[in-house]
Amino acid sequence: MDDAPFMHTVAESGGSPPLFEAAFMQAWNAMVITDADLSAGCRVLQANPAFTAMTGYTLDELRGRSLRLLQGPATDASVIDALRSCLKEGRHFEGVATNYRKDGSEYTVRWNISPVHDGRGTVTHFVSVQEDISDMIREERTNRLLASALDATSDLVMLTNAKAQIIFVNTAFENATGYPLSDIKHKTAAILKSGKHDDAFYAAMYRTLSSGQDFRATFINRRRDGSLFHVEQTISTIFDDDGRPTHHIGVGKDVSRRVQREQELLRAATKDKLTGLYNRHHGEKTLREAFSRAQAGGNSLCLIIADIDHFKRINDTFGHLAGDRVLSDVAGILRAAARSQDTVIRWGGEEFMIVLADCVIGDAVLLAERVRTRVHAHRDSEVGPLTVSLGIAQLEAGETIDALIARADAALYDAKRAGRNAVSVSP
Ligand code: GH3
Ligand code: MG
Ligand code: MG
Repeated sequence: MDDAPFMHTVAESGGSPPLFEAAFMQAWNAMVITDADLSAGCRVLQANPAFTAMTGYTLDELRGRSLRLLQGPATDASVIDALRSCLKEGRHFEGVATNYRKDGSEYTVRWNISPVHDGRGTVTHFVSVQEDISDMIREERTNRLLASALDATSDLVMLTNAKAQIIFVNTAFENATGYPLSDIKHKTAAILKSGKHDDAFYAAMYRTLSSGQDFRATFINRRRDGSLFHVEQTISTIFDDDGRPTHHIGVGKDVSRRVQREQELLRAATKDKLTGLYNRHHGEKTLREAFSRAQAGGNSLCLIIADIDHFKRINDTFGHLAGDRVLSDVAGILRAAARSQDTVIRWGGEEFMIVLADCVIGDAVLLAERVRTRVHAHRDSEVGPLTVSLGIAQLEAGETIDALIARADAALYDAKRAGRNAVSVSP
């Protein structure tokens, strides 16, 4: 009995229900009391059921033994050294180490040891409170593994809470956006907004997510440096056990390069490189579509064909580069003069067409005159003044596209014959 410290308390309390013993025996934490004989490795005097359950040893097996019996190959020697020097100095110690159960299985224990002093201040015992944290360590390891797995993927990953505040982004996300996690943590995902999506886009996103479905879309987002990038992204909702949405996870691929390539290809296929206007191929397609709509709806359709006057002379006198510059400038004047719904086409070398849907002849003439006067007013630093001639035709009932183009051409020819720098309307 002498070797069981709390038994003194029992004796001192006169045999009344020993509170300390009950507390010790029923404590959820594993507890063990040893003597203070460091040379013998501190022998166990008492251990509670939580301790015997944790270690697999019975109290009888533990009594009189040093707790070294719990140590093994994976026990961190430096922790044990630190423990020993603390105990030598009679100080409190806290640590985490790998221990071994009686059956040889490993567990991770977090423990603290406090010295117990007698009335004269001599350390007579040590009391240790221990907890098996193996599950927690395993969970931490799993979490670390998951975090490294997310970092290893080349997809962009962003985790937000229910308020859309950023909790985690992976390395691929940091690299693609230029935002380190530390800068954007707790900010809302709205920092990525580019302004390229309308309210309906975000409304559809919120609607889809709140119905519990995944939202898939190509987002145009803004990087930290202000540039835009395209992400093909799926956003999913994470629910808690009660079915409440707690987080959103977005996983996406940066498709900026692909989108850029597609846009370049589309531009190359539809636009003229020198002037940036639609090319003849795309222009013919647009004209056919406008023609079909005008026929089906009985709407008016006008064509303007514009041709730079004496352009050959410009080339011959000032060179091809000057000619190119003039072409590009005239294209700019045409584009600026046209309405937003009009299509301006580089129809040939120095010949342009404007397709005017839903436009009556009077308005087409005004537009053509505007072009003529603006070109006339334009001054190229090298070439000086230049002029353009324009022919206009309005689609007649039952007329074919070819016939319409031929009449606009004939009107242009009339303008040329009339001395150029002129607008002529097909009768
Ligand atoms: P007109 O007043 O009767 O229209 O006479 P023009 O000299 O403007 O007409 P013409 O059809 O005789 O000459 C057009 C010239 O445009 C011939 C061609 O070399 C030149 N041209 C065509 N495409 C380009 C181009 O992309 N760049 C340059 N610099 N010249 C071009
Ligand atoms: Mg010409
Ligand atoms: Mg010509």
